[in-house]
Amino acid sequence: MSRDKIVETLIKKGNKLFGLPYEKVKFTGNEEADTLLNDINQFPHAYVLACVMDGQIKAERAWLIPFYISQELGGFDFDKLLKLDLNSLKEIFKKKSLHRFNDTMAENFHSAIQLIHTKYNNNASNIWKDNPKSATVVCRFLEFKGVGVKKSTMAANILAREFKIPMQDRICIDISPDVHVKRVFARLGFISKDASNDELIYCARELHPEYPGIFDFSAWEIGREWCRPNNPDCKNCYLNQFCPKNI
Ligand code: SF4
Repeated sequence: MSRDKIVETLIKKGNKLFGLPYEKVKFTGNEEADTLLNDINQFPHAYVLACVMDGQIKAERAWLIPFYISQELGGFDFDKLLKLDLNSLKEIFKKKSLHRFNDTMAENFHSAIQLIHTKYNNNASNIWKDNPKSATVVCRFLEFKGVGVKKSTMAANILAREFKIPMQDRICIDISPDVHVKRVFARLGFISKDASNDELIYCARELHPEYPGIFDFSAWEIGREWCRPNNPDCKNCYLNQFCPKNI
């Protein structure tokens, strides 16, 4: 019963967020970089390239990479990117120390530009145009070098949740195995403390198959605001009365 109540509350919260109008997403905390990443009409490739860069360093730093490259190139028009050869890109990555794995990420960046060019006719928004199925969007992100399931579902989730991109369904938008989300799911009794990312993903699928990623924001917010690693503030957490508190 408590479990049902928790699920219901989290879904309600997630739906509320989903229904809110678009607001500029603070990906990096850098105003100019966030403006570029949010402009998915003029620079849809900036968002896609940032998703490709995400991983193995702090997200805020990874998402800054398109902006730093735009500074280097004097703009971020796709034509400019297309003219970049791999060696020049590697130089930029190294010179500006953009990533922990500069060579690999420069290769992934370059390869993503080529894929947007050949498959999407230089327009990355073709990845999500015409009300696609969520599985289609996830599959398309998976085709980018260096992008696995986690990044693909995150990319599809942000498109649906933050940018309000219409999709036929949300079945394939999984929960992101974030550290806050995992801790909250464990304390709520949904998964064990040492559960794998896959267990978390399948747990969310079981709880809400229509849109497993619905739990992302609410669980993340609870983890950050109240259910902190040490001394969780259960008194003020809105799940207090139902939570088994598996701490
Ligand atoms: S009630 Fe306490 S343990 Fe449960 S989710 Fe909230 S803060 Fe975490």
